[in-house]
Amino acid sequence: MAATARLHVEAALNAGAEIPLPEDQAHYLRHVLRQEVGAQLLLFNGRDGEWQAEIARFGKRDGSLRVREQTRRQQNGPDLWLLFAPIRQGRLETIVEKATELGAARIIPVLTRRCQVRQVNPARLLANAREAAEQCERLDLPEIPPLAELQSALGAWPEDRPLYVCLERAQARPLAEAITPGPAALLVGPEGGFAPEEANWLAGLPFVVPVGLGPRILRAETAAIAGLALLMAASGR
Ligand code: SAH
Repeated sequence: MAATARLHVEAALNAGAEIPLPEDQAHYLRHVLRQEVGAQLLLFNGRDGEWQAEIARFGKRDGSLRVREQTRRQQNGPDLWLLFAPIRQGRLETIVEKATELGAARIIPVLTRRCQVRQVNPARLLANAREAAEQCERLDLPEIPPLAELQSALGAWPEDRPLYVCLERAQARPLAEAITPGPAALLVGPEGGFAPEEANWLAGLPFVVPVGLGPRILRAETAAIAGLALLMAASGR
C-alpha cells in the first residue's frame, strides 16, 4: 500500500477548514501520486500539529483540501542549529536534506574564507528542506536564513548556545565528549576546511568549543551528518 501523502502547507489547520492547494502541490497529488478527489492525506504547517485531510477539489491547475481531524499535536524538535559552508551542488542538498531529517531547527549557510561556492539558491534549499520534512514526519520546517559571512552570522550569538566547531587534524576534544545539555549549534567548514587564521579567530570566541570527529578526514556533508547525529543522541531525541 502506498504511504499516505504528507504535505506542508501555509494555511491554518482546523477541523472543517477548506484550504487552497497551490499549483505545485495540486500537480504533485494529481499527476505524480495519481490521487483522486476524496483521497486522504496528512498536513502540517509548523504551528497546528498534523491533520488528516482529503482532496476536496481539483481545478485546472489548483485545487483545495478539506481538513478533517488532528492526528498529532504540535511538538518542537531539539534546539539544534547547523551552520555550514556552501559546497557544490548535490552535496549541498544532501546537507539540507539530512539535517532536516535529523531534526535541526535552523540550517544556516555561512561564507568562510575557503568557500569555493559563494552563493546558494534559497528557494531550492527550502524546497529540499520541505521535501525532507514531509517525508520524515517532522511537524515543522527548519528555518534557513539567507547566506551570510561567518563573522556576521556569529555577530549577535546567544551566549547560552555553545557552537561546536568541527576542526580536523587539530587534536580537538571529541564532540561526543564535549557535548553539554541544552541548546547547541554545530559548524562545519567547506571542502578546503577553515583557513588557519579563521580557525584561530573561532577558537577565541567565548561560545566556541572546538571539536574533532575522529582521525579520518570526513567530507563536509559527512561531518555535518555525524555531528548532528551525536548532538541529537545527546539531546535524547
Ligand atoms: N580539505 C581539508 C578537509 C576539510 S573537511 C583537509 O584536507 O584538511 C570539511 C569540513 O569537515 C572541515 O572544515 C571540518 O569542519 C569537517 N571535518 C572533516 N573531518 C573532520 C574531523 N575528523 N574532525 C572534525 N571535523 C572534521
